[in-house]
Amino acid sequence: MKRCVALSLAFVAAMLFWLRSAQPLPAADGQPGNPLPNIVIIFTDDQGYADVGCFGATKIKTPNLDRMASEGIRFTDFYVAQPVCSASRAALLTGCYPNRIGILGALGPASNIGIHDDEMTLGELVKQKGYATAVFGKWHLGHHPQFLPPRHGFDEYFGLPYSNDMWPQHPTAKFPPLPMIDGQKIVNPNVTADDQKLLTQQLTRRAVDFIQRNKDRPFLVYLAHPMPHVPLFVSDGFAGRSAAGLYGDVIEEIDWSVGQVLDTLRRLNLHRQTLVIFTSDNGPWLSYGDHGGSAKPLREGKSTTFEGGVRVPCIMWWPGQIPPGAVCRQPAATIDIFPTVARLTGAKLPDCPIDGKDIWPLISAQPGATSPHEAYFFYWGRELQAVRSGRWKLHFPHKYNTIVEPGSGGRPGKAQTRQIELSLFDLENDVGETTNVAEHHPQVVDRLTQLAQRMRQELGDSATGQQGEGVRQPGRLAQ
Ligand code: MG
Repeated sequence: MKRCVALSLAFVAAMLFWLRSAQPLPAADGQPGNPLPNIVIIFTDDQGYADVGCFGATKIKTPNLDRMASEGIRFTDFYVAQPVCSASRAALLTGCYPNRIGILGALGPASNIGIHDDEMTLGELVKQKGYATAVFGKWHLGHHPQFLPPRHGFDEYFGLPYSNDMWPQHPTAKFPPLPMIDGQKIVNPNVTADDQKLLTQQLTRRAVDFIQRNKDRPFLVYLAHPMPHVPLFVSDGFAGRSAAGLYGDVIEEIDWSVGQVLDTLRRLNLHRQTLVIFTSDNGPWLSYGDHGGSAKPLREGKSTTFEGGVRVPCIMWWPGQIPPGAVCRQPAATIDIFPTVARLTGAKLPDCPIDGKDIWPLISAQPGATSPHEAYFFYWGRELQAVRSGRWKLHFPHKYNTIVEPGSGGRPGKAQTRQIELSLFDLENDVGETTNVAEHHPQVVDRLTQLAQRMRQELGDSATGQQGEGVRQPGRLAQ
């Protein structure tokens, strides 16, 4: 009992300290005296919902991410816009559903499209306020010079233009040599396995160096690790460290990277003016078995619009602004980061429509805050497959691939195509999307169907043949 009283007093004291030390929200409206907040986004590739300790991993140790969550907020229902690389990244960087801006799938070396000059990226958004901006890692919004980060609002860029499996050693298809790019110049025309082993460390060092060099002005860093996308690589220092094989080693090195970034911010005394966001671009690539992650208890993984494909681990951290140990169970998504950064920096949103909404009330754990969206919409390519509103998720009839024989050792396994009929799932009671309750809730089915119909008019749907009135074109290679 005494122990309980002592713990309670300690908790109350901690909360009072936090409330006293909480700073006013940095100036969305340019109030004098408030520094503009720094923004750091750490985006991993194909990391599953359950591949972080505080999201359920048992064999993979992620002490830095777990600490980040205990000092910040963990989102249990955080979504990407599509369960595949380029489309997901397009949404994060523009606040738009990828269908709106024409970036779908995973752009490869033969692609001639990329982000359109007229789209405003996060880099261009904060440039209005004089931020220093950088991308370190995987871009994947077009690899021709006109599409690369230096032409889209980022002062610095170092990394891969597309996925790390788009290289000659791919197990099932041959690609041209994979280049490494610095700025707009190819600095290594043929990335090798030895180069890939060093990537996580190299990108982390670049991000830390950028933060140090720009500590006296506002900055935005987008650290987009190519890992844990196959083929998996880890530096010698992390090889064999985890209890979950190479995949676990890779995640533990990413966790180290997160620790380096947060430690740098603390050391430079920037932690109280920096929002750090950690999340993944889509669910785990289950076809690769022991080289893919886990989305448990969610259904399926990457390339599907089931929860395992689109729901990702997400942690946000900003001491003094986000209460420690908070948990957000409201739906939120990567499309919401762009307008939230606009609000925090006072930057003006683009004139053309975007889809995301400001989720600062959720991030800062304001009591009673709810999702600003009536629904989120999940496309696979141009097909609208599912819609989530509140506790409900409605799948329209669609095909999907399920893994019937997982691969191993870096080789993919075997998949079968299945069909799901119109299905309503109650995510509050059935997060694994196992039981179709559509016939018990016809009004919910009607409401979500109407929401979907409005979205089809706006962004189209290949399943119904609708084109979408609000669709814009991607950038195309200048001839
Ligand atoms: Mg990915």
